[in-house]
Amino acid sequence: MASPVRYTIFPRNPAAHLFEVTVTVSDPDPAGQRFSLPVWIPGSYMIREFAKNVVTLHAECGGNPIACEKIDKATWQCGPAAAAITLTYEVYAWDLSVRAAHLDESHAFFNGTGVFLLPLGFENAPCEVDIQRPAGTRYAGWEIATSLSQTQALVPLSGTNVPGSRTDVDVLPNDSKQFGTFSAANYDELIDHPVEMGTFTHATFEACGVPHHVAITGKHRADMTRLCADLKKICEVQIRLFEPETAAAPMQQYWFLIWAVGDGYGGLEHRASTALICNRDDLPSTHEKKVGAGYRRFLGLASHEYFHTWNVKRIKPAAFVPYDLTQENYTRQLWFFEGFTSYYDDLVLVRSGLIDSLGYLELIAENIGRVMAQSGRTRQSVAESSFDAWVKYYRQDENSPNAIVSYYQKGAMIGLALDLTIRQRTSGAKSLDDVMRALWRSYGREAIGVPERGVEAIAGQITGLDLKDFFARAVYGTADMDIAALLNSVAIDLAWRVPGKAKDDDPVPVTIGVKIAAEPNHDAKVSQVFDGGAAQAAGVSAGDVVIAVDGLRVSAVTLEKRLRSYPVGAHVTLSAFRRDEMMSFDVALQALPAQTCALTMQDTPIEAKARRNAWLLP
Ligand SMILES: [Zn+2]
Repeated sequence: MASPVRYTIFPRNPAAHLFEVTVTVSDPDPAGQRFSLPVWIPGSYMIREFAKNVVTLHAECGGNPIACEKIDKATWQCGPAAAAITLTYEVYAWDLSVRAAHLDESHAFFNGTGVFLLPLGFENAPCEVDIQRPAGTRYAGWEIATSLSQTQALVPLSGTNVPGSRTDVDVLPNDSKQFGTFSAANYDELIDHPVEMGTFTHATFEACGVPHHVAITGKHRADMTRLCADLKKICEVQIRLFEPETAAAPMQQYWFLIWAVGDGYGGLEHRASTALICNRDDLPSTHEKKVGAGYRRFLGLASHEYFHTWNVKRIKPAAFVPYDLTQENYTRQLWFFEGFTSYYDDLVLVRSGLIDSLGYLELIAENIGRVMAQSGRTRQSVAESSFDAWVKYYRQDENSPNAIVSYYQKGAMIGLALDLTIRQRTSGAKSLDDVMRALWRSYGREAIGVPERGVEAIAGQITGLDLKDFFARAVYGTADMDIAALLNSVAIDLAWRVPGKAKDDDPVPVTIGVKIAAEPNHDAKVSQVFDGGAAQAAGVSAGDVVIAVDGLRVSAVTLEKRLRSYPVGAHVTLSAFRRDEMMSFDVALQALPAQTCALTMQDTPIEAKARRNAWLLP
């Protein structure tokens, strides 16, 4: 077996947001060893060029400096050298997200993709990383939260970090939270365990016998007991969904690394952990017992990332086996890996009893409404959206609503439609759960990649149904699915309502078909112009700052109110600045379309109601 690649990572200057990282290769390529940093992080399909954060870098061999130069945007070449090479480099860490690294005097967070250079040719070598606490007594109370396996811990000595002073422990329990040496079987594993350091809140629970940890960084007042009890329900429903007989989880331990901030939302999945960023007010408070909208959003996010433990971390597109971290990895299947995960994240909340059926219908209705509101769905299929995620979904601009469809939102709708189709056409004998379990058995347990169109093939085999037309329309086409008829098959009625029109005799609200950005000085700045809208027909463009309607000043706050004093069909003169030039536009006001989706449950027919119960409360 190859000798291990050894790393150290040390938050050398938290105030300047600088980590110092070293990597040592004992038997480098004698012709010149190359090292490279990934250009993207799995789970977030965009080229991020993490090497841009490497500030300084130098190389040594036998204590002497050796030549090291960059040969492309993400690769360095050192040597030639006949003995061990050590690279020492600084990484700037000030990315307030779950995708890169962040360091200040309150905490440190990193993903291996942003900090650990890979010695090329050593992809399969075991890795060891010594994770160190920042120097100084103010950091004496810092601990570590990570799902990496710990092999050795530093002896805590008067709260200071003494490199080289170690206990002789083979493998520590993973919840020791002590600084020290961690190991990974290879580079792929090394970079799939994000690390949090600091003075986080920590709690544990067991789900189907597997220890689960919750670590929250940032000021918060979360009720940890309730949070653990609720997460446990979500985890157990998901483990049993994939392994109903054995209730065996695919990991030995799991960490929810949560970063509570004033305003933030996002998560990234890993094989035995997830990094989440959320509003601190979305976490459950000790005195509130209901699941409000904020906490529901948080639980949905946690449920989503946890579901990825199976769906995308183990059941993977073949295009990701292995990941090529030097360039885009193309697949047309993100509608399944992200969309079906989005379908199940909320479904698990109702199945675990955290929300009721009505609350679940609200979530589905919101999603259907979002999909149907964007005309981009008529131009791009979810297969195309998946393929182009790198340049379109992840790099959205003012025209995105008119040009693209979200493989998350429409993918979740396809998951719902497929589930209801299977239930209806097999008279309840099969469901999407059977398809997920079949994918898990065929591809997930051994992490063999799912070939393109592999999901469709398994769905047809396991249900015995001919689903070719379903997939042709839903996944590869741009025509709308008949979701109302499918919901009807489980005794749910779908209706479209005009937002802001409560009663039949209320006036029809008007619209000009734009989105106004929330600007700090209340300017009514147009951020998006929707296809087929009155503003687009009149020539209003994204970036225009609307200042008056028929000569009366408006702001972001008052524009809509001003327009609503006119009837449908009226013409108004809109005054706006573009590149500081004043322009005016003659806009014919349109009726606001019925774009709010409303779902209601019916008591009949009895079979449909029974099918609904089997779906939501199996
Ligand atoms: Zn996801």
